[in-house]
Amino acid sequence: MASSRRELAKLAAGAVSRRRLMEETYRFISVPSPTGQEADFAAVFAETLSELGLETSIDEEFAGSPSVIGRLKGEGGGPTLQLDGHSDTVPVPHDPPSIDLERDVVRGRGAADMKGGLAAICEAIRALADAGVRPLGDLLVTAHGLHEAPLGDQRTIRSLLGRGVAGDAAVIAELGHEDLATASRGMSIYTIEVRAMGASMHEVELKDRAAHPINAVRLLLDALEARAEELAAQPAEPFGPETLFVGQVHAGDFYNRVPTEAVVVGTRRYRAPLTKQDVLEELEGLCAEVAAKTGLRVGVELKEVGPAYALAPSEPVIAAVQASYHDVVGGELPLAAARAVGNAADFASYGVPAVYHGVNQQTAHSDDEHVSGADLERAARVLAGSIVHFCGAEREEEKR
Ligand SMILES: [Zn+2]
Repeated sequence: MASSRRELAKLAAGAVSRRRLMEETYRFISVPSPTGQEADFAAVFAETLSELGLETSIDEEFAGSPSVIGRLKGEGGGPTLQLDGHSDTVPVPHDPPSIDLERDVVRGRGAADMKGGLAAICEAIRALADAGVRPLGDLLVTAHGLHEAPLGDQRTIRSLLGRGVAGDAAVIAELGHEDLATASRGMSIYTIEVRAMGASMHEVELKDRAAHPINAVRLLLDALEARAEELAAQPAEPFGPETLFVGQVHAGDFYNRVPTEAVVVGTRRYRAPLTKQDVLEELEGLCAEVAAKTGLRVGVELKEVGPAYALAPSEPVIAAVQASYHDVVGGELPLAAARAVGNAADFASYGVPAVYHGVNQQTAHSDDEHVSGADLERAARVLAGSIVHFCGAEREEEKR
């Protein structure tokens, strides 16, 4: 009789080797890859995927920050799962990498964020092979640089997704280990500029007091505050409150000169289904009112840091990771909102449902970045089981 999906998932998860995984994490962090200099590590990661039997290529679109793409053909009849991660680390110095099998810890820049997660992806695929469990759907592994701000801007992963290098769903091996983020607020930075037509003048030359750029700022701040209060009155659950925040106001350069311009800068956080366009129209409406009252030009520009998204609860990747987590850890994996702006938002904007599961990232970016062997093992086991639950699988021996 053919094994059930759950039996095969447990079989694959059970084949994860903690020691092998710790050693691979150590090997990965021993090749530095600060943002913008990911080429050496990309070569190591690509070689690892090749050894695992994946058809692997290095995408050189962004010089110095190549992306690695690996594909493992399934037995047929299942959806494609993408396992993704960023290959760069923050460019902050750290003590040399170390591994201590007895104390069950790997230390060094990137151990938690997120070469441990990338090693867990590799170990999950290795465990499937060792257990003789063959996925029905394809596996697609992607690793991309230029992730960490301020140098990183997600152009690498967005380019891959834009070119169709995408699975039917994705698991990103970071930013989640005890809950499953299925939604995130979007965030945009707005810049409102007020401009007078003429040149600066002495205060006594100002004929129309309303047409003073600082008056426009006052009206703008009132309008922005009124909108912020409306947003604060809305229910914040389940994904956190929508907000409108003012962070910078610049106007004037001398005590009795009428300035020609003024700038107000801040953030707007919003929930799906709102998009950057909706937020832009909202702010343009406020600006138009102030322009009408003052006769000044008032324009707004918006830079989206991350779009808002919310996955449908019925997305199969959610059930797959939850089922695997239940197999491996025993408890439920609760749904949550993403705490940070991560790549799931980029996947969502290309129509690919993505969730996060990796190692505990409490020490990410810190002076003592580390990950435990137990944590690595749990991440790899959950990933191995998630592949089986999502893609379907069969046993090699049952096939013969
Ligand atoms: Zn990260």
